[in-house]
Amino acid sequence: MIQLEDSNKIIKKFEKVIKTPLKGAGKTLYTGIDLGTAYIVLAVLDENKNPVCGAYQAADVVKDGMVVDYMGAVRIVKKLKADLEEKIGQELYLAGVAIPPGTENIDGGVVKNVAEAAGFEVVKVLDEPTAANMILKIQDGAVVDIGGGTTGISVIKKGKVVKVMDEASGGRHFSLVIAGAQKISIEEAEKMKQDFRLHKEIFPLVQPVIKKIISIIQKALEGYDVDELVLVGGTALLTGIETFVEKETGLKTSKPSNPMFVTPLGIAAAL
Ligand code: ATP
Repeated sequence: MIQLEDSNKIIKKFEKVIKTPLKGAGKTLYTGIDLGTAYIVLAVLDENKNPVCGAYQAADVVKDGMVVDYMGAVRIVKKLKADLEEKIGQELYLAGVAIPPGTENIDGGVVKNVAEAAGFEVVKVLDEPTAANMILKIQDGAVVDIGGGTTGISVIKKGKVVKVMDEASGGRHFSLVIAGAQKISIEEAEKMKQDFRLHKEIFPLVQPVIKKIISIIQKALEGYDVDELVLVGGTALLTGIETFVEKETGLKTSKPSNPMFVTPLGIAAAL
């Protein structure tokens, strides 16, 4: 059975240091940079894999896993880096980045270039599910990463990613459905969606999108013997999504305490 206690411990520590960064104290620090459709996240771990600091910012620089605003991405990463360096009193330079699987030849270089143009030395480029599993430590199961623009499913056997699939359905589609139903702008729908107090109310509206995501999961798992799912990505923050997925798929489904921070922490942990 998949246990997420250890993942939750590191995520909770990370959430604490986002609010109150620790001093770097001269240790070697590793930064995981996650360039997403909706957010750019920087997670900094020390050499013992303890979270030191972290930051994130909403950004519109990546679409469908591709960097579409290079200069914008560099600017944000540079700013987050400088802010963190000031807070911890130490320079950050060793970094890793992650890319959606299968985009190595198209975008791997671009994401790396963004980090380097922002002043990092990139020591590792890894694929997102492998990064996520550095934190989740799943031996057998599937990770479903429901991000802003896409849902990525990876099947893990004996601790290794054996299959990946990425489809264009994600949080943005939830916002589009809410906007349509409530006759509000996408921006307002986005705000509504991120308000945990409103999750119960919006759940029935977004259920068709969740069902679409479930059909994507089922397609990805065809031919694989998978008993358990773990949901990650910002859209997995939607209250009750794991219970619904479990009921519909018949597969035990869980999510870590903050599914948005798994990949950036995993990138840093892989360094
Ligand atoms: P992608 O994986 O598609 O490249 P990303 O890495 O930017 O995108 P994440 O940061 O994992 O994606 O998730 C972003 C999504 O999470 C956005 O659609 C955002 O609206 C959604 N989200 C953020 N907070 C919440 C919340 N509290 N409830 C529901 N959805 C949320």
